[in-house]
Amino acid sequence: MGPPGAGKGTQAQRIADAYNIVQLSTGEMLRSAVAEGTEVGKKAKPIMERGDLVPDEIVVGIIDERFGSPDCANGFILDGFPRNTAQAEALDSVLEKRNMELDHVVELQVDDEALVERITGRFTCANCGEGYHDKFKRPQKPGVCDRCGHRKFTRRDDDTEATVRSRLEVYHRETAPLLAYYGAQSKVKSVDGMAEMDEVTRQIQAILGAP
Ligand code: ADP
Ligand code: ADP
Ligand code: ZN
Repeated sequence: MGPPGAGKGTQAQRIADAYNIVQLSTGEMLRSAVAEGTEVGKKAKPIMERGDLVPDEIVVGIIDERFGSPDCANGFILDGFPRNTAQAEALDSVLEKRNMELDHVVELQVDDEALVERITGRFTCANCGEGYHDKFKRPQKPGVCDRCGHRKFTRRDDDTEATVRSRLEVYHRETAPLLAYYGAQSKVKSVDGMAEMDEVTRQIQAILGAP
């Protein structure tokens, strides 16, 4: 868990690789639906552009369906889901139905001021999805993806300063209360998301234990 730009995607990808589990990002799934122009994508597009939350039944449906895939059998890391109490309750019942359990909830703590800079400088490899930043993580060879060697990068339509501010508001209003929800189950561990990327990864791995 963490506000937009906290480093959820960056860290989730590293954890997925290190622990051989899948990264389930509802934001990524919704962006592919938008790109493909599916019914879900058509509904989600204007909502995502405003920085609001897509209706619960859509994201819960996507996640529930995804849990059934064989690649989830070894475990998964949820990135950007759940985002409000209704989604957390739906997640509990979906997990129970499938005899699965959440092991940890990791919170990335980052100051609001740092988030705007992180989000407005963010870009991604169009081929493999590796995340970069204009200031904090440039490709080693300019214009070439470190991970896959491709030369095309994309920026998200909703990564503008105005949209980030409304996404942040939504986070504080709708999503932050989940810290109390999971705190009541003694599942939340908080990490200093202001630290440098590798240090954040080390802190998360210390919480999760050996792969
Ligand atoms: P989220 O998935 O939480 O929205 P990202 O993982 O996409 O966040 O990170 C947002 C931006 O900040 C990206 O450009 C990423 O490269 C950069 N970033 C991530 N973690 C850090 C960090 N610890 N320090 C500096 N920049 C970071
Ligand atoms: P970030 O963490 O950088 O804000 P995400 O990629 O997680 O970005 O989400 C992008 C957008 O997709 C959100 O602003 C929201 O409109 C939509 N979205 C993603 N996950 C959810 C979710 N669980 N519930 C509702 N909307 C979601
Ligand atoms: Zn790449």
